[in-house]
Order: sequence, then C-alpha cells, then structure tokens
Amino acid sequence: MLRIGLTGGLGSGKSTVARIFEVLGIPVYYADDAAKRVMNENEQLRKKIIEQFGAESYAEGKLNRTYLSSVVFPDPQKLAVLNSIVHPATIADAASWMEQQHAPYAIKEAALIFESDAHHHLDFVIGVWAPYELRLQRGMLRDGLSKEAVQERMKRQMNEEEKMQRCDFVLKNDETELLIPQVIRLHEELVERGS
Ligand code: ATP
Repeated sequence: MLRIGLTGGLGSGKSTVARIFEVLGIPVYYADDAAKRVMNENEQLRKKIIEQFGAESYAEGKLNRTYLSSVVFPDPQKLAVLNSIVHPATIADAASWMEQQHAPYAIKEAALIFESDAHHHLDFVIGVWAPYELRLQRGMLRDGLSKEAVQERMKRQMNEEEKMQRCDFVLKNDETELLIPQVIRLHEELVERGS
C-alpha cells in the first residue's frame, strides 16, 4: 500500500481535497486532529509539554489549546520547541495508522510535511496549490480573522512555491480548473501505482 502525504498552505484547500479522496473510498489521516488526540492521550508527551510550558497547558485533564496557542504562536522559538516534542509522536502515530489500512493507498493530510520531516515516511506527497490572495480570502472567511491575522499565520509557513516544487503531484485549487476531476485523475493514477 502506498503512503501518500497531502499538504498545502493555509486556505489552499487540502482538507477539502482530503474529503474528496474519502468519498472515493480512500482512508485519510488528519494530522491536526490526531495531534490533538495524541497530546491528550500520550502520557510522556503530556509530561514534556508541562515541563516546557507549565501546568496550565492542561486544564481538567485536557489540553488547554487556548493557553498553549497564546504562548507558542507569538514566539517562533517556542513553537519550534513544541513541534519538536509533538512531531515525533504524531509521525509514529500516523505510521502505525498507515499499517492498519487496507486500500491501494492511504493519505496523511498535514499542513507540515516537509517541515516536520514526515515525507521520509511517505511514498509520495500531493500539494494543493492556490494563489496567495485566494488563500488569504478563504482564511479570513473561514476563521473570521482579520487580513493581518491571516497574513501573520501565512508568514510563518514555508514558502508556497518551494513547497509545491517539492511535491510529487500538484492539484490546482484556484477556481480556474474544476477540483473533483483533478482528484479523480490522480486517484486513478495512485490506484494503478498502488496495486
Ligand atoms: P488550513 O490549513 O487553513 O486548515 P486547508 O488547506 O485545509 O486550510 P480548507 O479548509 O480545505 O483548506 O479550505 C479553506 C476554506 O476554503 C474552506 O472554507 C473551504 O470550504 C474553502 N474552499 C476550499 N477550496 C474551495 C473551492 N475550490 N471552492 C470554494 N471554496 C473552497
């Protein structure tokens, strides 16, 4: 079975694309959701997070995301520390999930693939591309954030063109070309490669 990564910048449409693959019967691992679950369930990880960021990182036994976000997002160094703690655990979790799937291929959807070195555990990576302005609009609409707040988040991500160059396949989600037929074509190619 092929292990496929699916990535793209904020508002590129990677979750939308992931849902289309799911409709086609392909199992999808959502790295963001999984990271939250792992941060709640993995005792060692919980200990390390509390060690680094304080007891307020958990409230009533659950990850206190509001607190942790307010600590790490304004400070790139702290964010890097959190990522260095969380990524190995989520990469291991994704790898064991992959092993349990029975399909020609399975997908891991994640904002960070190259940044977290997760691509070493994947056979191919699909990139979802959309132009900056459109991603900005989508981010503002979806999250109800100001233009500046979305731009700030986008600034912290890897350069989009560089990311797409590193991908093995790129889907264009810029509203000039229908998305579903592109996904179906890629699905057919991956089924062929995976069987
Ligand atoms: P993030 O990394 O910020 O979570 P993402 O890459 O997963 O973003 P999505 O959540 O799939 O992106 O899409 C962002 C927003 O744009 C969503 O509200 C989604 O419904 C919308 N969107 C994505 N693709 C399209 C499209 N082709 N047509 C219309 N709306 C779209």
